[in-house]
Amino acid sequence: MFLTIKNVSKSYGKDASYTKVLDGVDISIASGERCIILGPSGSGKSTLLNVIGGLDEVESGEIIIDDVDITKLNDKKLVEYRREYLGFIFQFYNLVPNLTVRENIMVCENLAKKPLDIRELIKILGLEEHQYKFPSQLSGGQQQRCAIARAIIKNPKILLCDEPTGALDSKTAKDILILLENINKNYGTTIIMVTHNTPIKDMMDRVIHIKNGKISNEYVNKAVLPAVEIDL
Ligand code: ADP
Ligand code: MG
Repeated sequence: MFLTIKNVSKSYGKDASYTKVLDGVDISIASGERCIILGPSGSGKSTLLNVIGGLDEVESGEIIIDDVDITKLNDKKLVEYRREYLGFIFQFYNLVPNLTVRENIMVCENLAKKPLDIRELIKILGLEEHQYKFPSQLSGGQQQRCAIARAIIKNPKILLCDEPTGALDSKTAKDILILLENINKNYGTTIIMVTHNTPIKDMMDRVIHIKNGKISNEYVNKAVLPAVEIDL
């Protein structure tokens, strides 16, 4: 497997405030797979993405990506891992307000060893007419498209998406999910997404339910529907 999470646990706080957030989580994901993580608020979904992304440390367990346990990497190696492997998308876009769309994307282009073609990416994401605008001049969907371009310009192997459509109306949410689907097809990016848009689970390869920090259910979709057929 490309990504293997082995018996990962994490807790916060001590004594009365002690919370076990991840409790012996085991997940295996193949390269190029689209995986959706579902679960109630507070069940540990964001924490799980953050430990995969090396933004947060595990307490015990292993996260093995391409045969490397990233929980054992030193800071310098962890930065290299993030740079080569990871793109992140969040619910609230996190764009730099005083940079244009194109400049926001270029910040990450400059960090990449082998960036994708920025013009092609801007076109795929439908940002051509917005590329010289500032984030405040864009709708939520346009800002999220910019955030997606910024995340994938370095052609990461894994795209971690934490409620990417959480702040969008259902029509725009659907457009964003179709875009992510196209990115997976075009670039073979492994997608791990937390979302409350449950209907899209039918277009994902692997569906994981998490409850109180444990995997409560997991299955692989045999017949994945094309993105255009989903109805949110
Ligand atoms: P989800 O994304 O599923 O809503 P989270 O992973 O954000 O859940 O949080 C899981 C639990 O961990 C929650 O109870 C939350 O309050 C707690 N938690 C998350 N981050 C921290 C932190 N930095 N310090 C203390 N508790 C935290
Ligand atoms: Mg969350």
